Formats: sequence, C-alpha cells, structure tokens
Amino acid sequence: MTFVLQTGETVTRETFWLVGPVGKALFYFLAALAIVVFLYGVYERFARYTRGTEDAFARLDDLPGRIVSAAKTVGSNENQFNRDLYGGLMHAFVMWGFLTLLIGTTILGIDMDGYRLVTGLLGEEQSFFVGDFYLSYSLVMDAMGFLFVVGLGMAIYRRYVVRNERLWGKHTSLEDGLFVWTLFLLATGGYLVEGVRILATGFPEFETVSFVGWFVALLMREVGVSADLATALYPAAWWSHSLLALGFVAWIPYAKPFHMLSSFANVVTRDEKAGKRLPGVPADAGPDEIGFTGIEDMSWRQLLDQDACTKCGRCSSVCPAKASGRPLDPRDVILDLKRYRESVNAGGERKEIVADGGTSVIDARTMESCMSCMACMDACPVDIEHVPQFTEMNRRLTESGEMDENVQETMMDIFGQGNSFGNPERKRPDWTDELDFAVPDARDEAVEYLWYVGDYPSYDERNQRVARSLATIFEHAGVDYGILYEDEQNDGNDVRRVGEEGLYEMLAEDNVDAFE
Ligand code: SF4
Ligand code: SF4
Repeated sequence: MTFVLQTGETVTRETFWLVGPVGKALFYFLAALAIVVFLYGVYERFARYTRGTEDAFARLDDLPGRIVSAAKTVGSNENQFNRDLYGGLMHAFVMWGFLTLLIGTTILGIDMDGYRLVTGLLGEEQSFFVGDFYLSYSLVMDAMGFLFVVGLGMAIYRRYVVRNERLWGKHTSLEDGLFVWTLFLLATGGYLVEGVRILATGFPEFETVSFVGWFVALLMREVGVSADLATALYPAAWWSHSLLALGFVAWIPYAKPFHMLSSFANVVTRDEKAGKRLPGVPADAGPDEIGFTGIEDMSWRQLLDQDACTKCGRCSSVCPAKASGRPLDPRDVILDLKRYRESVNAGGERKEIVADGGTSVIDARTMESCMSCMACMDACPVDIEHVPQFTEMNRRLTESGEMDENVQETMMDIFGQGNSFGNPERKRPDWTDELDFAVPDARDEAVEYLWYVGDYPSYDERNQRVARSLATIFEHAGVDYGILYEDEQNDGNDVRRVGEEGLYEMLAEDNVDAFE
C-alpha cells in the first residue's frame, strides 16, 4: 500500500493495526449487521407512524425550508439554551462532539472503502488519510471529542451528583443511564485506544496533534505501561471500543438514542401555530368517534411526538398545574400514552385512553387540571405539541359525560346565557351605565375598531372598572370604536379547551354573525 505523502514522512496511522485480515473481515460483518439492525429499527418506527391518522395540519409543506429551519434550531441548540445555560452548553457539547466523531468516522470509511478501493482498481492504491489532512483530522477529532467528554461529564454530574429533579420521574428507566454511560464509555474508550496506540508506536512526533490521546499515552507510561504491553493490549482495547460502537448503532432505534432522529423529525414537522389553533371535529363524527378513543385516533405526528420525548422534564418544571399540586405532569402524560401504545403494539391489553375511575391510561382528573396555558409547549426543546393531544382527551371526556361538575355548570351557563358568570345576557353592557358618555354601538353605526369586551370586563365588578377606564381612554383619544352590547357572546376559547367543541362552534358562529 502506498500513501500519498504531503509532509515528507508517513504521517498517518494504520486503521486496522494489529487486527489482522480475519479480524477485519469479522469487523465488516459485524458493522453490516449493526447497520441492518439499525435500518430495520428505523423502518419499524416510521412504518408505525404511517399507521397513524392524517394530521389536521400541513406538516410536510415546503419540506426543504422546514429542514433548513429545523437544522438551525437544532444546530444552534437554542431551545436547550432557553432558560438553562448549563443544559444548553451540555447538549451543544454532546451533540456537536457526537456529530463530529460520526462525520470523522464516515470520512475514514470513505477513505478506506471508497477512495483506496477506487485508486487501487485504477492502478496504485492511494489514501487521503495522510499528511496535512491526517493532522487536521486528528486535531479536530481530538478537540471535538474532548468537548463530547466534557458535555457527557456535565450530563452525568447533573443526573447523578446534583440529581436535578426534573431528570427523574415516573418514566426514568435503565435506558436513560445506559444512554449517557454508553456515550461516555465510547468517548473515553476512543481516547484510550488512541493513547495505547501512540504509546505502542513509540510516540510519533506528529501525533502530538492528537493531544488528548497523547496525554493518555503519557499517563499510561507514567503508571508503568511499556510499549510492548501497550502493543499487547491494543487489539483488546480496539475490539472493545469497536463492539461498543457497533452495539450502540444497532441499539439507536430501540431506545432513547432514537431521539437523535425522532426529535429532529419532530422539529421539522412542527406546527408554528400549534396549540393556538386546534384541529376541528369532523362534522360527521359520531359521539363515539370524538377525541382519543384509542391509539388508532392518534395522528402520525402525535405518535412521533411521543417518540421524540427525551424525558428532559422541562415541560413539567414549568407547568402551573403541577406546581400547584394538581395531578398533572405533562411529560408523564406524553410518556404514558407512548407506553400504552407500545404495549398495545406488542399485543397488550387495551383500555380507555382517558376516563374517570383510575382504570384508563390517563385519568380524567389529570386532564381536567390542564389550563391550556401552553407553557409546556414553549419549554419543550423538541417541539412536542402537548395541548392538541390534551384537547383530544378532553373532548373524549366531554363526549362520555365525564366532565367535572363545576365545569359542566359553567358550560351550561355559557350555553344558556352566553357568558361564564351565568348572568342574564341583557346585563352584558351594564358596565357602561356609570360612564358619562355613551359607548358607541357597533351594531348601529360603522366603526373603525370593534372592541370585543369579553366576559370578565363585562360582568366582574373589578374588571368592569378596567373596562370603563379603557372606554374613557378611547373616548378622550378620539378612537373610532364600538361594542356589540347584548349581542356579544363568550369567546369560546376556554369552552374549546375543555373539549366542548359543539358549544364552541355555536359561540363562534354567534360571534361571527354579530361581527358581520
Ligand atoms: S398547558 Fe396544561 S400541561 Fe401544559 S403547562 Fe399549561 S397547565 Fe401544564
Ligand atoms: S415533552 Fe418535551 S419538555 Fe417534556 S420531557 Fe419530553 S422532551 Fe422534555
């Protein structure tokens, strides 16, 4: 084998040093096996998404634009940095360290199994993994690998030393620890292999660019490891590192590491208006078909949502319902749904998705606790859309008559009187009585701005004072505005959030009629 030298000496390293032809063949066999297992797992996951229902909103329009936008979001780690500098740095180090090592390994593969093969077939086998390229490659790999180790160290410190409580929950399992420790062993194992090789090959001067490996080699020499011993140890070190790496590749689609793919896909397919807009209920849907009745009702994007969850707990840490002691943890809801879906897919027993009585996947009290504030969605680094899924479950509760009594009463008030206070409709404009000017009636005269006052400023005494102050400001500022008086109705937002889609539609129609 002839290397193209760029610096006058053989500046490179032998890729399968001391592995031998049989070992090399075995490695390729295992690598192919790992890739097949990986691809099958990925295929299985995505095949499952295709069994989900159509999503209510376009998710794949302008796909190139979506991918670029997601790459910016994910690449910058902006969501991870959001209110968490430590978490942002940790994730950025791990992600970019991992990606660099992955790209570096791929480049090496291209040299070994592409460039060398082709040049060999054309006459003289050559490699670009030499000279200046090799030096730059080694420097970048060592530097980014170092960041990778630092990031993983930060993750381990936060999880096991600080025991950050948002990382621990009902769904914390072996895979969480296995994921971070496997990466850590991979990263440190790579340096160990490098250090053993540098020591065994007598500290070639150009290898100083691999500064971490060089340091490891020095350390080993200090503790008495000779070059001969390093040479003897090298195959074992190389094989353990390689087997761990191949095992990790095969494991990716079957556990938490899959978030490396699913989270990115989730960000690509995000709905910028998620939660602010909700899917409607099909006009021909019967009562038994409204909301989540089973996993078959979940859209492919909702299934992807569940798989994208990294269990980071950011959503739970900002949830006001959880903070106030209500039985709601948004992370657990997403992961409960995922666990149930996986159990059904594996032939497990079916049950109701949401119901009262504690026998369903999600309890009615849990869903009733959600205030639809969307803080969980704002905090989620991978754009999981909790609220639309929660609304589907609330719709199911409504349809099955399991709505909380107080909420039911309020719904009846809104249905009967058009407001959540249960006060007569004719009293809606009473707040204007104390003003010494008449608030323009938008029903009788054309106005530039229609002021939708809302239930609270119309009926609640304290808020009525606010409404009067605002009207006075409008009056003095000469704003051309008007209100709808008795024809205004509850806006229907909260009605819709608690799952009363029919009442919401009625209110929306009434309000639109009044606007027109
Ligand atoms: S939308 Fe619901 S689950 Fe999410 S943070 Fe608000 S209250 Fe909690
Ligand atoms: S839903 Fe999002 S924020 Fe919540 S644990 Fe999962 S990834 Fe983290």
